[in-house]
Amino acid sequence: MRLKLTLLYTGVLCLALAFFALAIIFTAGRILHREVDESISATAASVVRSAVIRQTPFSLQEIVLPDINVFATPDTYLQVVDTRGLAISRSDNLGRQYLPLSEYTLKSAAQNKAFYETVRAGKQNIRVYNVPLVVEGRLMGILQVGRTLATVDLLLDKIRFIVFAGGAATVLIAGLLGWFLARAALHPVEKISRTALSIREGGDLSKRIDYSGPQDELGRMVNTLNNMFGRLEAMYNQLQESYDLQRRFVSDASHELRTPLTTIRGNTEFLLQSPDLDAGTAREAMEDIAGEARRLTRLLDHMLALARADAGFEMEKNAVPVDELWQEISRQARFWAGGRTLELSGRLPAGKQVEASADYLSQLVFILLDNAFKYSSPDTGVELTMRENPQDWLEITVADRGPGIAPGDEELIFNRFYRGEEARAREGSGLGLAIARWIAEQHRGSIRAANRPDGGSIFTVLLPLSKQQLNKETW
Ligand code: ADP
Repeated sequence: MRLKLTLLYTGVLCLALAFFALAIIFTAGRILHREVDESISATAASVVRSAVIRQTPFSLQEIVLPDINVFATPDTYLQVVDTRGLAISRSDNLGRQYLPLSEYTLKSAAQNKAFYETVRAGKQNIRVYNVPLVVEGRLMGILQVGRTLATVDLLLDKIRFIVFAGGAATVLIAGLLGWFLARAALHPVEKISRTALSIREGGDLSKRIDYSGPQDELGRMVNTLNNMFGRLEAMYNQLQESYDLQRRFVSDASHELRTPLTTIRGNTEFLLQSPDLDAGTAREAMEDIAGEARRLTRLLDHMLALARADAGFEMEKNAVPVDELWQEISRQARFWAGGRTLELSGRLPAGKQVEASADYLSQLVFILLDNAFKYSSPDTGVELTMRENPQDWLEITVADRGPGIAPGDEELIFNRFYRGEEARAREGSGLGLAIARWIAEQHRGSIRAANRPDGGSIFTVLLPLSKQQLNKETW
């Protein structure tokens, strides 16, 4: 490209200079020749003006010319010839030479035509002006005024040399400069291809083209490419992240599924291999199997819910009056609590609505209630509240008097399969809170966990009542 660009504009410059040079040489040639023509025609006119016409004895007239040497200059020659072409008079500076005279000159003079011609004499060109000398319509002779073109030709040769040599030097210098300029101009392009190549070979998508020039075509191209690299990197990271998530999910899920299956297999083999078992032990083994099967079902339900979430499943929502939502959730919660103490408090303004899927919201609340009962001791109570907070959000809280969340775990517990240290002793899969967060986010809301100042944990869910957006001040 560099060579192409250099050759292209050197070629264009060459053409332009050649045109310019030809124009200069042509114009200079014309001006100089015209000047010569004017000077010889002026000399001829002076000679003719000074001529006298004399009456001859045979009542004929003849021309008497002045001494033509008076009109000659070192480079101007004069010659008068008669009608046959014989020289009558010549300026002294011609020496033994004669100004050339052609048949054509004689013929043209006979037709009374004055004209210029360029003739070759020896090694030089001579410009000759031929003037017919006519008396009473009779051609008496021809006056020839010649001037050597040696000076003019020399001058034109010099001009030609200067113009062509100067032009060639200009083209050469411009070509060299152009070669370096093209390199400077194409430098960013080289950088672009080098960066692109290193990205291809090294796979490092965080690389960008380093460009600090003006925002011209190249600057804009670099910006576009850097933006494109940025988007590629973001997309690649996103893909990588979701790939990692999937891989972890599959490995965690298979691990979680293996434990209950091992228990079930162990118990069934034990039952099969011991036909004489007493009824009590056999029943215990079967209860174990039933319990593990229930756990498996719950685990699979959770995994299914998250798989749906990953596949971009959008739950169906409609406007649900908040007081109705509260009544339904509190009714189910009372039933859910069984023998445990559950304090319910719902202060909900009539007429307010939330855009929600009532089923999924209930699922969210029961995940939190399930955890609260699971992680606190049976003799403590759990509180469920639903209210409109001062920032006009629907706020659902579930609080218990359990061990609380370990410091630093407040965010981690929402990750899939993450289980707190203390929780490992209890039954669970580590998927409940991940589902709870997905449900909250599907409602354009959020969920967070905290410890209560006087012991226990509190989970707060915020859902927009009208069309509000969640921002930092909401918390
Ligand atoms: P699971 O309860 O099956 O372990 P979750 O996703 O529901 O899974 O919870 C993740 C972790 O969060 C739990 O393992 C536990 O450590 C912590 N956690 C959840 N709820 C509570 C709670 N009410 N009190 C204390 N820790 C809790």
